[in-house]
Amino acid sequence: MSTVYLWKATPEADVEMVQRATRTMLDRLVQESGIELEGTVPLKVHFGEVGNVTFIRPENYDGIIDYLECNGIRSCFMETSALYGGQRYKRELHEKTAIEHGFTRLPLVMADGDRGESFVEIMIDGRHFKSCKIGRAVREHRQMLIVSHFKGHILSGFGGAIKQLSMGCASKGGKLAMHMGVKPRIRNRKCRRCHLCEPRCGENAITIGEKSFIDHERCVGCGACVAICPHRAISIFSLRGAMNAFGLKAFREKLVEYACASQKDLQRIYVNFAMNITRGCDCEPRRMKPLLPDVGVFASTDPVAIDRACFDMIRDRGTKFRGADTFAYAESMGLGSSEYSISEVLVPRDTVQT
Ligand code: SF4
Ligand code: SF4
Repeated sequence: MSTVYLWKATPEADVEMVQRATRTMLDRLVQESGIELEGTVPLKVHFGEVGNVTFIRPENYDGIIDYLECNGIRSCFMETSALYGGQRYKRELHEKTAIEHGFTRLPLVMADGDRGESFVEIMIDGRHFKSCKIGRAVREHRQMLIVSHFKGHILSGFGGAIKQLSMGCASKGGKLAMHMGVKPRIRNRKCRRCHLCEPRCGENAITIGEKSFIDHERCVGCGACVAICPHRAISIFSLRGAMNAFGLKAFREKLVEYACASQKDLQRIYVNFAMNITRGCDCEPRRMKPLLPDVGVFASTDPVAIDRACFDMIRDRGTKFRGADTFAYAESMGLGSSEYSISEVLVPRDTVQT
């Protein structure tokens, strides 16, 4: 059974409360788990794709950074290049996005080099992979804070610590390996030929015309076109598609295997912001509406327990994400435990005025 620390958001909670909560919960987690932070402890983050407005804003990270600074720990923002075209495809664009979205308090380290070429192979014993390509700098840090926005995801069902640890820490080749097998199709009957999807595809795999189609030789299965199509004409499910649903389960298992490789023999602390909870993920360059009021901030040393706790609490509030089979596979791979106990962190408005 793993401990998950939780600060529950309230309608009147502001960003200062979030900062105090994250400071307090990190302090408790570090003390109670006996972790001794030292040297440089990067924050694995996600800056949000350009056009997305529901990613976790940089001021929400300030409580974590303050905590590290107060304890004499150096830090940086750590990211890897996205697989598909867009504003996070390579270092220069990622730096630009980080600045535009206000992530300027810490230096940025691209863990997999300028364009995803820098990685180490980590051996595991998974159903899909025997070795995983993890961004080199991820593996060079014994300690890291994996900070995630918990929300939905078009392929994995939900995205939180496990996805941040896997897709978020993999090099471009690793990301490609995980996406292989998830190839969408265009339903011509539904396609209105609006051409919105074409520029979204960094691989030039989409042809829109009398008979619209996706070239599966070029497609890397990133799912970006599925997310952008306003008419639900692009789908990873099809009538022929038991295989596709099967492919999605395999995709989730691949995420778990990469998460195992990413954290293997290293010390990680996980912080999940269950705020601005949308159906789609922060990679989607569009405005989305939160599905429910903010739940709060979670912290744990166990990536499975923290995601399970977020998943359960959101389900209990009436929103169900796909992907629950992730947890059983993660447990079987030794990534963590889906059994957890909640340790609530209270941060009354009037306690700390620093
Ligand atoms: S976004 Fe959807 S409807 Fe528009 S062209 Fe692409 S597939 Fe067709
Ligand atoms: S066709 Fe769609 S899923 Fe394939 S690479 Fe292009 S945007 Fe990604």
